[in-house]
Amino acid sequence: MIPIAKPYVGTEEKEAVMAVLESGMLAQGQVVAELERRFAELCGVKHAIATTSGTTALHLALLAHGVGPDDEVITTPFTFIASPNSILFTGATPVFVDIEADTFNVNPALVEQAITPRTKAILPVHLYGHMCDMDALPAIAERHNLVIIEDAAQAVGATFRGRAAGSFGTGVFSLYATKNVMAGEGGIITTNDDGVAERCRLLRNHGMKRRYHHEGLGFNFRMSNLHAAIGVAQMDRLADFTARRRANAAYLQAHLRSVTVPRARPGYGHVWHQFTVRLGHGRDRDAAVAQLNEAGVGTGIFYPVPAHKHDYMRRIVGDLRLPAAEQAAAELFSLPVHPQLSQRDLEQIVTEVNKL
Ligand SMILES: *Cc1c(COP(=O)(O)O)cnc(C)c1O
Repeated sequence: MIPIAKPYVGTEEKEAVMAVLESGMLAQGQVVAELERRFAELCGVKHAIATTSGTTALHLALLAHGVGPDDEVITTPFTFIASPNSILFTGATPVFVDIEADTFNVNPALVEQAITPRTKAILPVHLYGHMCDMDALPAIAERHNLVIIEDAAQAVGATFRGRAAGSFGTGVFSLYATKNVMAGEGGIITTNDDGVAERCRLLRNHGMKRRYHHEGLGFNFRMSNLHAAIGVAQMDRLADFTARRRANAAYLQAHLRSVTVPRARPGYGHVWHQFTVRLGHGRDRDAAVAQLNEAGVGTGIFYPVPAHKHDYMRRIVGDLRLPAAEQAAAELFSLPVHPQLSQRDLEQIVTEVNKL
């Protein structure tokens, strides 16, 4: 089976982890600080703060911006559940607005219509590695005095008009095993705001600035040096990984016939976390996916249920109709595009998809 994702672990990752083990400095320390420097440099921002996961990074970013009970945060229903859950963790309410049919990202026109006096932040998700419209969203945020927290978990290295994901607002990345760069588990917050950075650092470590003196309630969301060592080694590979994903996506775009292929909009640097295709309306996705899997082509469905349709979420946001997100959830599936695909893998994917 050609897997939908395959974490790359090379000699550098193994040696880096061994070096940490031998150093005796296993918990958060210099290696975490080095990973933070690498992310700040990549995004061109002042601060990067490492945490245990993308989920905890989202949670801290929202708290650090003062999001809490009584606030509303506008986001997309077509995302991994961590995005809206992080809003719920703060006590705030997610407000879901529908997506655009070509990028699957939140529709800026609908974002502006959803603003109320309680709206505090916009949480756009750069889904599949294609950024949201970062002309429109920051303009809306500025007009209404809102914060932007970019969920860039799938978009490390992505750009909008040459500017990096994670540099438009406060950014959040995930280093989960299948993400474009990984550390097994891990998360990163990027920001130019000194106060936000300071609060994230405090919240990540029990509200502690001076040992055993606590400024407030905090968490243990610290990343370990072991995880950071993998992440630093992966950052050295990011340019190569992205180039391979782009080449694989270009091949699939050029050769796939029986499905609608995704395309990057002009001015957007897509990093192809997923290569997600659409079966024509009325065609049976489950049958197509089963046929591909039978033929050795791995697939993924990101995501089969839009966030507003989960029962627990429905009890909070009510019965919403968001047709573009619901249609995407019913019709899309993803094909392998990861850097470890061979030419033979690509040819097999094309052959099998074109049989559908
Ligand atoms: C992976 C992911 C997250 C959460 O990251 P974890 O590291 O798994 O906690 C959040 N949002 C999106 C869009 C993701 O893909």
